[in-house]
Amino acid sequence: MENCQLCQAYKNEKSRIFMENEHAFAIIAKWPLNEGHSMVLPKKHVKDLSELPSEEIKAVMELCEKVVAKIDEKLDKSTITMLNSKGCRTQEHLHFQLAPLKKEIGVRDLVNALEKNSLYPEVSDEQMNKLADQFK
Ligand SMILES: [Zn+2]
Repeated sequence: MENCQLCQAYKNEKSRIFMENEHAFAIIAKWPLNEGHSMVLPKKHVKDLSELPSEEIKAVMELCEKVVAKIDEKLDKSTITMLNSKGCRTQEHLHFQLAPLKKEIGVRDLVNALEKNSLYPEVSDEQMNKLADQFK
């Protein structure tokens, strides 16, 4: 979709993409809540999982599983929280936020930060590309 930032990210910000399969891709979050905060998205522009055929849902979930394993391998975090974007006010393109958290940041802090985009500043293209390279 032309005016969707996330569709545009797939087309124009290839260096942010660190993993993909036939129906889904994974990128570094532009406004990360923590180091390693990533997003997994279907390549098709949909608002909700219910709009995807089961084969594509499976591809999205398989990629989430691989990204979690990669974050576990590369970063020392206590847990990884996964949030579905349904109801997200800023992005209509379905995505899963995979946020590696330290013990001192709870899920409530994460939700508050997502709503306000306030925990961490936008990261530079250089920082995103560096992290994406680390996760490849
Ligand atoms: Zn889109």
